[in-house]
Amino acid sequence: MSHEPPPTRAQQRRSLREELDAIRAQGRLRTRPVIDGPDGHVVRLHVDGKRVALINWASNDYLGAAQNLRVRNGAFKALRSYGAGAGAARLLSGGLRIHRRLEERCASWWGVEDVLVTSSGYQANIAALVSLCITSEDVLILDRLCHASLYDGARLSCGTLMRFRHNDVADLETQLERSSGAPRRIVVVEAIYSMDGDEAPLAAIHALCERHGALLVVDEAHALGVVGPGGRGLCADLGLTPDLRIATCSKSLGSQGGLIAGDRDLIELCVNRGRAFIFSTAPVPAAMGAAHAALTLLDDQPELPALLVARATALREALRAQGWAVPAGRSPIIPLIAGDEAAALALAARLRALGHHAPAIRPPTVPAGACRVRLNVTLAHTDSDLRKLTRALATIRAEQTAAETSA
Ligand code: PMP
Repeated sequence: MSHEPPPTRAQQRRSLREELDAIRAQGRLRTRPVIDGPDGHVVRLHVDGKRVALINWASNDYLGAAQNLRVRNGAFKALRSYGAGAGAARLLSGGLRIHRRLEERCASWWGVEDVLVTSSGYQANIAALVSLCITSEDVLILDRLCHASLYDGARLSCGTLMRFRHNDVADLETQLERSSGAPRRIVVVEAIYSMDGDEAPLAAIHALCERHGALLVVDEAHALGVVGPGGRGLCADLGLTPDLRIATCSKSLGSQGGLIAGDRDLIELCVNRGRAFIFSTAPVPAAMGAAHAALTLLDDQPELPALLVARATALREALRAQGWAVPAGRSPIIPLIAGDEAAALALAARLRALGHHAPAIRPPTVPAGACRVRLNVTLAHTDSDLRKLTRALATIRAEQTAAETSA
C-alpha cells in the first residue's frame, strides 16, 4: 500500500496540460475551424486573423443535398409541423411519425425488413455492434481501417475484438479460422473507406462469411448516394444482403441521423440492446424532414451518383497525370498521402494559400506515417472549382519536384 498523499487537484490539472502539450509536440493538435455561413462549395474561414473565402474540399455532402433548396424545405416543413426537438428518446415519447416514416421508407428502398433510425451514424455503429455481442466469447473481426465509431462500438460491446489487414481477404480468413469456436462471429467492414476512398472487396468478404458461417455488418456511410442503383450503396450494387447494413443521413443525404437496416429480429434486438439508441434523444424532426427530401431527390434524379463518380474519376485521372500517387477507385474521396504530420500540414497550408480548404488528416484518424490531405469531390462544386484545384495541385507538384531535384 502506498502512503503517498493523493495527487492534488492542481497536480492533476498539470498532468492533463502535459497530455495536451504532448499532443501539440507530436504535431497532432486539433483546433475547431469556424465557417462563417453555410458549409457550401466555398467556405468563409478565419486564417491567421484574416477572413478568407476558400473552395471547400472537406465536406461529406457529396450530392450537395445540405444546401439544396428542396432538402432545406423538407427540413423547414418538418420543423414547422413537429417543432424544434423530438422531446425524448424514442422508447419514451420521442418517437414521432416522421422517424417511423423514414425507417419504413428506407426499409422499402433497400428491400430489407426493417430499419432503425438513431441520432447519428456514430451512434448507429455503437448500437449495432453492442447489440450483436452477447458474451465475451463473441468475436468482432474488424478491418484495420474501420472508422473510429466501429472500433468504439466493438470496445463498448462485451465481445472480443480481432482485426484483419485492410481489405485482405486471406488475412480475414485466418482470423475466421482462429475464432471458429466463438458462439457468434461478426465481420465488420466499410463499403467505401472514409479516409482512403477505396472499396471493400465485398463480394469476396460476403462469400467468406457465408462459408465460415460468420455474420456480416457493412457500414455504407460513404457509399450511400455514391454507388449502387439510385445511390443505394455497395451491397445493393453487388446484389448482396449483409446481416446489418449501416448508413448515415449526414453525408449524401445532407442531414443527420444514423440508419441500421436488416431483418426484423436483428433490428428489434438493436431496439432492445442498443444503448446508444435507447438512451439518446431521437433526432430532431428537421433532420428527418431533410433526409426524406434528399431521398426524394435521389428518387427523382437517380443519375446523380453516376455524375458524382464521373466527376471524381476525372479528377483522379488529372491528378495522376500530374504525378500524384492517387489510388484507383470510383469514390469521391481522393487521398493525397503526405507522410508525417509536418508534411501533411505543409500540403494543407500550401493548398490554403492557393485558395483551397482541405485540412491535414493526422492520427488518430489515420495511421502514423500515413498523414494526408483528403479531397472530397461533391456535386456542389462547379467546373471552375475543379479547374482551380487541378491548377493548384499542378503548381504544388512542380514545387515538390523542383525541391526534390535541388536536394
Ligand atoms: N461511419 C463512417 C465510415 C464515417 O465516416 C462516419 C462519419 N465520419 C460515421 C460512421 C459517423 O457518422 P455520423 O457523422 O453521422 O455520426
